[in-house]
Amino acid sequence: MRIAAAAQAAGRQPAEVRLLAVSKTWPADSVREAAAAGQQAFGENYVQEGVTKVEALAGLGLEWHFIGPLQSNKTRLVANHFAWVHSIDRLKIAERLSEQRDVHLPPLNVCIQVNVSGEDSKSGVAPAELPELAEAVAALPRLCLRGLMAIPEPTPDVAVQRARFASLRALRDELNGAGYGLDTLSMGMSDDLEAAIAEGSTMVRVGTAIFGSRA
Ligand SMILES: *Cc1c(COP(=O)(O)O)cnc(C)c1O
Repeated sequence: MRIAAAAQAAGRQPAEVRLLAVSKTWPADSVREAAAAGQQAFGENYVQEGVTKVEALAGLGLEWHFIGPLQSNKTRLVANHFAWVHSIDRLKIAERLSEQRDVHLPPLNVCIQVNVSGEDSKSGVAPAELPELAEAVAALPRLCLRGLMAIPEPTPDVAVQRARFASLRALRDELNGAGYGLDTLSMGMSDDLEAAIAEGSTMVRVGTAIFGSRA
């Protein structure tokens, strides 16, 4: 499909790019169908909706990723129902997730969300503040800092898409140059996954292209 073609075009192995199926707004039965077709990792944006599906499908051995904005009063649910959180953009949220993660569960995998578009309205830490946040998050005992995530502003201009994704990759490379072992670049959605894969994405978050348009 598109991921394999984009990886090949970029001289990469298709297996280097994981597909996260974004099931927000779709019912548990849609997830069940995708799981039956072999999809293992699912992304959710809204805490209560996601937790309901995680519990309904607990027997299927799926890997759940929280990818939406996270408020501090909802961290406990996320800390204990998900395997990954992609949307860490401030230390307070990370600290709460680390404190609240059940000791019997493995560390929670996290990505720091970076604002690579520079718009005031976008969530994500500013690139200049990333090194300090990364250092603090990496020190939290119940979290495992895996990489960076971005949601660049939508644009049909492929050159702009690629520039945004390249800047996230450069930030990851800088951190790795400083000794971090970050293996994850969570970037690319239905409309820009080719550009993201060309710039080194290791996880594309795809909703519409899998499940169809959301109501
Ligand atoms: C909804 C969403 C996606 C998937 O978007 P599509 O355009 O439907 O592929 C990916 N990442 C995040 C953070 C989202 O909120």
